[in-house]
Amino acid sequence: MIETNGYAIHEAGTDFKSFNFERRDVGPHDILIEILYAGICHSDIHQARAEWEPIIPSVFPMVPGHEIVGRVSRVGANVTKFKDGDLAGIGCFVDSCRDCPACEGGIEQYCIKGSAQTYNSTEMDRVTPTYGGYSKNYVVDEKYALKVQEGQDLKGVAPLLCAGITTYSPLRRWKVGPGQKVAVAGLGGLGHMGVKIAAAMGAEVTVLSTSPTKEKDARALGATSFLNVRDEEAVKAARGRFDLLLDTISAVHDYGAYLNMVTLNGVMVVVGMPTESVPFHAASLIGGNKVLAGSLIGGIPETQEMLDFCAEHNITSDVEVIDPSRIAEAYDRTVKADVRYRFVIDMKNA
Ligand SMILES: [Zn+2]
Ligand SMILES: [Zn+2]
Repeated sequence: MIETNGYAIHEAGTDFKSFNFERRDVGPHDILIEILYAGICHSDIHQARAEWEPIIPSVFPMVPGHEIVGRVSRVGANVTKFKDGDLAGIGCFVDSCRDCPACEGGIEQYCIKGSAQTYNSTEMDRVTPTYGGYSKNYVVDEKYALKVQEGQDLKGVAPLLCAGITTYSPLRRWKVGPGQKVAVAGLGGLGHMGVKIAAAMGAEVTVLSTSPTKEKDARALGATSFLNVRDEEAVKAARGRFDLLLDTISAVHDYGAYLNMVTLNGVMVVVGMPTESVPFHAASLIGGNKVLAGSLIGGIPETQEMLDFCAEHNITSDVEVIDPSRIAEAYDRTVKADVRYRFVIDMKNA
């Protein structure tokens, strides 16, 4: 076993403490990644605070982190995709059953037997706990690691592994491209990536937000319009306007009000997950032959495609880098939406 350390929560809602633990030895198909940056995803906070129970139980001690970028420092005998010194990334899961239809189709996040999450989960043996990226290193099968190109701003690449793929996958699935009108609801960690990626795909992007102060940022990120959803007249005027609406809002809100802004045959894709059920009236769906869809991150092939797309289009996340001693503060500020737009922990000297 490999002795290592990270930052763990030992009980829901308490502070992070330095935590010594073991990673498995590097097997024939494994790589060891020395972690450079780990993004702070809102789902880290939900799980660290046990807010998704009972749907997703929180298991402690918990080392969160599933937006990981680092450098390979050891490779197993049969590894072909990586060599020592290469950059590598890890997203939300690190293994899956490998033979169900989802795994065979490269959408391992929907593994019928349940994939092994990067943290707050177990390996596929259902026994060995997984610990995430707020740590020194990670041992992962190369099949579940992503290639990261050199020459990028790596701290801004880390959040692509969750926030990037979460928004890229539905935009691809619903074939967003030039001439289309895309609305991104909510301008946080997910939303700001959605704006950048949809704009790079050639769509005309509008940000829907309750904070008029975000208009300047929205435009700087690539949006051509901004709609304050508290402005009832503006919302009414936007009826039927958008081909696709990407809903990144994680607070409870009325889906119907947003569906009304979607065009005939249009699509609203939900990627934000409120902690409670959301009310909406079927009329807003039936009226315009509309689709209300969901999407969960992306599989390994598409995550690689997204990283390559972002490298090609020079897209990274806007981040604020912190030292591990400031994780608790970063959590509080993330909950208050007081970050533009993602905290990333510098794990180099951790
Ligand atoms: Zn995430
Ligand atoms: Zn599977």
